[in-house]
Amino acid sequence: MEKKKRIFSVKKILLILLGIILLFIVYDIIMTKVYSQDIPHRFATAEEGRELMLANTEYYDNYTQNDIDFRLKKTGGTMDELLEKSADSVNEFSFFEKYSIDRRFAKMSRTLKRNGYKLPETDEIVMISADMQLESGAGGYTHGTEIYLNDKIATVFALIDLIPGQNTLDELLWHEYFHCLTRCDPEFRAQMYSLINFTVADHDFELPPCLKDKYSSNPDVEHHNAYATFNIDGRDIDCFAVFITTKDYAEAKSSDDDCKDVVLVPIDGTDTYYTREQASNFDEVFGTNTYYVIDPEECMADNFKFAMLYGTKGKDYPDPQIIEGIIDIVSR
Ligand SMILES: [Zn+2]
Repeated sequence: MEKKKRIFSVKKILLILLGIILLFIVYDIIMTKVYSQDIPHRFATAEEGRELMLANTEYYDNYTQNDIDFRLKKTGGTMDELLEKSADSVNEFSFFEKYSIDRRFAKMSRTLKRNGYKLPETDEIVMISADMQLESGAGGYTHGTEIYLNDKIATVFALIDLIPGQNTLDELLWHEYFHCLTRCDPEFRAQMYSLINFTVADHDFELPPCLKDKYSSNPDVEHHNAYATFNIDGRDIDCFAVFITTKDYAEAKSSDDDCKDVVLVPIDGTDTYYTREQASNFDEVFGTNTYYVIDPEECMADNFKFAMLYGTKGKDYPDPQIIEGIIDIVSR
């Protein structure tokens, strides 16, 4: 009799637990449906994704041989090969990936509503799934308001995020979303950059001849028109940031480091550049909330994701004033 009673109560507990899980799933589906399109987005099929990717001709036209070599992982590759491989890298999203991403957009939208944050409007965001082999396995990157997501990472991150306290896919999406926002609203971009001491000029700066062979294109950085004052050898010099490869591909493939770094280029047209170590105030300018300081755009995309996800108190920031500044701007 006692045993029967125990089995009955264990069954009851399991049923209640199952009921709670089902309720949670239904609630999650409803919330996702209601809020996800507050940030307008859609998922491209592989075919459309390929077309959109290859339509970014201005970006590919600016590729250097260095860009092609590092992406194809060989010397002397051609643009035709690169475009073919790029097209091959695009995939279909799975149902699970689409739902996981929709769920994050819904959560992002609820974060904005709950805190009363106002962000610039963007054109419709188009999500494209790609394998990222040509982009060093990056989690994602953007062109305009197209967000290319790493097909493997999207699934892995969504699973990791089932662990309480993990926000890997949220972080990735907030970061990529920032690039869409800055492209759609130059004023917002200028305000954000000013938080790390960068001023946006009305024209793009020319790359100096000494960097032409070393330049490394980054789809997230469309413009080199923002500068800050760096202290170099005791002199204040206005410079813009450029991401380069420190060696050519033939040398780099036998090297242990990744051979990529940010350098500072004077905006006055002098044919030279300075390493980050030469600027005594490099960390003061960019702040140290993130290590991803290859350009003000990337640095602020990371600060923005922290601000949106964790607010001013949710993390121990070395430079809290940057996060406070972001919150202040989006709260106006
Ligand atoms: Zn980025």
